[in-house]
Amino acid sequence: MEKVVIIGTGCAGLTAAIYTARANLNPLVLAGPMPGGLLTTTSIVENYPGFPEGVDGFELMTRMQKQAERFGARVKFAVLEKAELDRSPLRLTVDGEIIESQTLIIASGAGHRHLGLENEHKLETRGVTYCATCDGALPMFRNQPLVVVGGGDSACEEATYLTRFGSVVYLIHRRDQLRASKIMADRTLANPKIKPIWDSVLTDILDVNQNKVTGVRLKNLKTGQESELPCAGVFIAVGHVPNTQVFQGQIDMDENGYVKTTEGTQTSAKGVFVAGDCHDHVYRQAITAAGEGCAAAIDCERYLAALHA
Ligand code: NAP
Repeated sequence: MEKVVIIGTGCAGLTAAIYTARANLNPLVLAGPMPGGLLTTTSIVENYPGFPEGVDGFELMTRMQKQAERFGARVKFAVLEKAELDRSPLRLTVDGEIIESQTLIIASGAGHRHLGLENEHKLETRGVTYCATCDGALPMFRNQPLVVVGGGDSACEEATYLTRFGSVVYLIHRRDQLRASKIMADRTLANPKIKPIWDSVLTDILDVNQNKVTGVRLKNLKTGQESELPCAGVFIAVGHVPNTQVFQGQIDMDENGYVKTTEGTQTSAKGVFVAGDCHDHVYRQAITAAGEGCAAAIDCERYLAALHA
């Protein structure tokens, strides 16, 4: 039986792994479908303390994993299929195999929110994407007009990154003010290759018949006016949804699926703790996720110590 299983290898999961490994709890860490978490899809991370020149998101996560493994954490590339958390020990089904554990730290992060347009799904990988860092350099986007949807830090970051490749980057936001932090917003709006289109939403992505993105249909929410904008790529950056579906019915969550805590990082299930973006919809930063991972590890360690006292 495991002492600690950690779900997720983003900042929260790997920090929990470093701390529980150093507490000799020999954690098993399940990487899930997105090893390294969302930060691996970011280019340069400029606000993680200790890196005055910034650090590549993928490199930061690789370093965290190495640090956790150095102290004995076992990182396994496997997906959690089922969690039974109303029993002791807790029972997890992982790639068809049953794993029992005394405790669990949920750090499963969040995934990209979709717009919900029919053609968004049909044209995914044909010009619709959720990650500029992953896809921006593809030949189909070179020297072409590109569209970014959203008004947060992610949308600004994506738009700025895409100016390296696109002829022009249209930033389409449903309001007339960006949600992004001031430094990101100022930098984005000062970029001559980025053209903001305010108060507007996508009503369709074209053209399924050609099996590639050729443009978007827009609606101005203030005037009701509809228009078409030619483009070769649509980069969607409209926020995230927590990766908590597998825990539905097992622990308390809010109406959006974020895991609720009772005290510290403790969830409604005994011996189950939570950290990072699957719980925190307010701060959602790499450093706050890491901090919560640390807190969850300490809570977990104390829980185990009390159990064996
Ligand atoms: P976010 O801050 O939640 O912003 C999502 C944006 O998408 C908002 O502007 C929102 O519009 C818009 N939106 C949501 N649903 C929409 C829909 N259905 N149709 C059209 N637009 C929609 O998400 P995020 O930008 O991914 O950032 C998440 C967190 O990560 C934030 O805390 C951010 O600070 C952090 N982050 C930091 C950095 C960095 O510092 N380097 C980089 C990326 C992300 P409204 O504004 O009208 O709500």
